[in-house]
Amino acid sequence: MPCGCATEMRSVRRQGSPHRTVHAIMPAAGAPAHIRARTMPLPQLADYGDGIIAVDTGYCRPGLAAIHLLLENGRVAVVDTGTAHSVDGLMAVLAQQHIDPDHVDYVILTHVHLDHAGGAGELMRRLPQARTVVHPRGVRHLADPSKLLEGVKAVYGADETSRRFGPVVPIPAERIMPAEDRMRLDLGGRELLLLDTPGHARHHLCIHDARSNAFFTGDTFGLSYREFDTARGEFIFPTTTPVQFDPDAMHRSIDRLMQMDPGHMFLTHYGRVGNLDRLAGDLHDCIDAFTAIARQASGTGAHRHRLIREGLQHMLLERLAGHGCHLGLERKLELLDMDIELNAQGLGIWLDSHPLR
Ligand SMILES: [Zn+2]
Repeated sequence: MPCGCATEMRSVRRQGSPHRTVHAIMPAAGAPAHIRARTMPLPQLADYGDGIIAVDTGYCRPGLAAIHLLLENGRVAVVDTGTAHSVDGLMAVLAQQHIDPDHVDYVILTHVHLDHAGGAGELMRRLPQARTVVHPRGVRHLADPSKLLEGVKAVYGADETSRRFGPVVPIPAERIMPAEDRMRLDLGGRELLLLDTPGHARHHLCIHDARSNAFFTGDTFGLSYREFDTARGEFIFPTTTPVQFDPDAMHRSIDRLMQMDPGHMFLTHYGRVGNLDRLAGDLHDCIDAFTAIARQASGTGAHRHRLIREGLQHMLLERLAGHGCHLGLERKLELLDMDIELNAQGLGIWLDSHPLR
């Protein structure tokens, strides 16, 4: 059982569209693609109202990575795509929601890390009218993913990269729309404002949705897993994964989002959070604590990496205890381990490029 009460999940259920998994009968081999999409098992969904639905990508574990759908007057935007492994499930959700793939206008990528954008090329093949909207720095990586894949293989190794992310298909350049800072999109009369929000990555944007006064934050507003919700609300911490973590830019981007006084944030990892003043404060504190842990780690290479890992683990467990999380230690570490490893790697890279003088 998750610790405490899952505030966000309760509010979703009140709106009458609970999370659910529907198991359908698989079609015969060789069935046309649209039949396969309609009959494959549906991913877990959360319907938040305001035409916003979160779809679980199934990446690594349930509740880790979401695709968000925005629906307005029959037009649709997809925010982040998950990996190629998520595409069939997303198409099944569109079919279940009676959405014609031709009515998807935008596939907006918060940034081009593969857990967010790896499936974009394959998805674009199935959405013939859509344009991919991405930070200008991300455009060339979508048109030619080879360099991006090289970087990912350096983190995960070649075999794990292809197992984890599946094929990464290029997107024709003419279907990619670079999003300059403050660009506005019209989704069936609904205004979406795109903001340049570096810190986690230099190719990161966040999307403000005027109708719900919420942001889709990708990784800029950190990670918040529903398993860590308690009576105090949500638990949050930043993501400093390789290779472009920039603490000063991350502080500024969080402040920039908060200046618009949003009611909620929708995080790719995972779903809707409120209590934003407290969460923004927690993120600022954690960014400073993470960089202090990195600065204090002595030595180099594997030794230093181990010290950073241990420092992050100790700090996050302490904060979870203060948050009133009563999950067992093993479960907490199971939920945190991948982020601790990636955050430690990203902090190491940041340290090497920002030595103290
Ligand atoms: Zn990322």
